[in-house]
Amino acid sequence: MITRNDALRLDASDALASFRDRFVLPDGLVYLDGNSLGALPKGATARVAEAVAREWGKGLVRSWNDAGWIDLPRRVGDKIARLVGAGPGEVVCADSTSVNVFKVLSAALALRPERRTILSEEGNFPTDLYVGEGLAHLLGRGHRIRLVPKGAVVHALDTDTAALLLTHVDYRTGERHDLSAVTHAAHAAGALAVWDLAHTAGAMPVDLTAAGADFAVGCGYKYLCGGPGAPAFLYVAPRHQEAFRQPLSGWLGHAEPFAFETGYRPAAGISRFLCGTPPILSMSALDAALDVILEADLALVREKSETLTSFFVDAVEQLCGDAVRLVSPRVPSLRGSQVSFSHPDGYAVMRALIARGVVGDFRAPDVLRFGFAPLYVRFTDAWDAARALAEVLSSHAHERPEFRRRAAVT
Ligand SMILES: *Cc1c(COP(=O)(O)O)cnc(C)c1O
Repeated sequence: MITRNDALRLDASDALASFRDRFVLPDGLVYLDGNSLGALPKGATARVAEAVAREWGKGLVRSWNDAGWIDLPRRVGDKIARLVGAGPGEVVCADSTSVNVFKVLSAALALRPERRTILSEEGNFPTDLYVGEGLAHLLGRGHRIRLVPKGAVVHALDTDTAALLLTHVDYRTGERHDLSAVTHAAHAAGALAVWDLAHTAGAMPVDLTAAGADFAVGCGYKYLCGGPGAPAFLYVAPRHQEAFRQPLSGWLGHAEPFAFETGYRPAAGISRFLCGTPPILSMSALDAALDVILEADLALVREKSETLTSFFVDAVEQLCGDAVRLVSPRVPSLRGSQVSFSHPDGYAVMRALIARGVVGDFRAPDVLRFGFAPLYVRFTDAWDAARALAEVLSSHAHERPEFRRRAAVT
């Protein structure tokens, strides 16, 4: 039997406990949705205020040079690089994850011109598949997306596979691929590996260089805490950077944007993956958030994540019995920093939980998803969430009609 005292004891010995104070978190709220929208770092508030009042308000257009706005996508990219095992000049911050999938996937396909298959798995995040579909259509050369069941991708690699397009940590189940082993398998089949790190970056260490990954993309607003709609990032292995002209050939990816030449000449290195003017205010928030995240030892972050998610699984199973079913892998090393349970009435259960101040989210068709951002989630939060879930289920609170009305965002 575990109790709330166990949670208190684990919080007391948590080496990362002091990070919680670096974030704005409303009193009394248990926030388990940092995998959808990361909490607000206090430093981001101050930084955005400064970017607005001084850099924009007083500096005006001069701030492109004086405040270094023009280099911000590369500076932020270099910070993200340190979280994903990449070197300087290998990551850039730009656009949304969806747009970046388009850029890097077209780069991958261009490097394997004789192959036609984009291989992915069923249940991969829809935007990645939609963008792949759109790109295949646009290319008009018979590319297709092939989806295979989870766990079958490695065996499905063949001589027609141009790119393997996978999300490292599954957004719904939290299941985690072995990035290195899968990348090696892709290469052995002559294919390139494109990784989506949306649920990875900032939550656990990952080493793109050691794994030999070809391309990667990821989100700025999940574990990186850059704020709603924060710009995303992309990684291109140095060996591919000069080989490719990306299709969104906007002026900021040009070798000399301010030469205003008629024709496009790609910039050297990662800068050619830029397109248009960066969103400076949101990128400033992300930049400040990264300063907090980079202070943490990612090995400790991962260690806490495994202990915290395991504690939550144990607490839910003890308090809720078989009213919910674990969807995430039971072995901690096989999952990311989230835990998902299924319940036939999952949407209403999550709404009832949120009404009690426990915020997770719901993913169709029946998944209750709880994200554990190790920098600000406590063991007591995990316990209190499990307790609240048990109360909702035993009191049937979720059967109230107000919890059944679907909101636009789940
Ligand atoms: C959240 C998420 C995205 C989001 O893409 P946007 O373009 O930022 O909306 C993409 N891929 C995965 C795997 C995600 O989890």
